[in-house]
Amino acid sequence: MELHNYTETVVKEVLNEILSKRDNICKCEKCRLDIMAIALNNLPAQYYVSRKGEVFSKLLASYMETRTRVVTEVTKAAIQVERMPHHQQ
Ligand SMILES: [Zn+2]
Repeated sequence: MELHNYTETVVKEVLNEILSKRDNICKCEKCRLDIMAIALNNLPAQYYVSRKGEVFSKLLASYMETRTRVVTEVTKAAIQVERMPHHQQ
């Protein structure tokens, strides 16, 4: 069995969507992880236990609600990271 943070799973998914739609956000590993860290610090963790390798269910009642909050926080985090260039391209 494995312990997962449901919020983190949704943050990764939403971040990939946002990065694929916007060209102005740096897509390097450092910026991606910075965006995830900021967003996750502003969102409540939602832990769940699943069997190893089992994919989380988008049909969970909380999915759409979580997703809406995650989109807001990831967008804010992306703007914040974009404004502080902390590495050379
Ligand atoms: Zn970067």
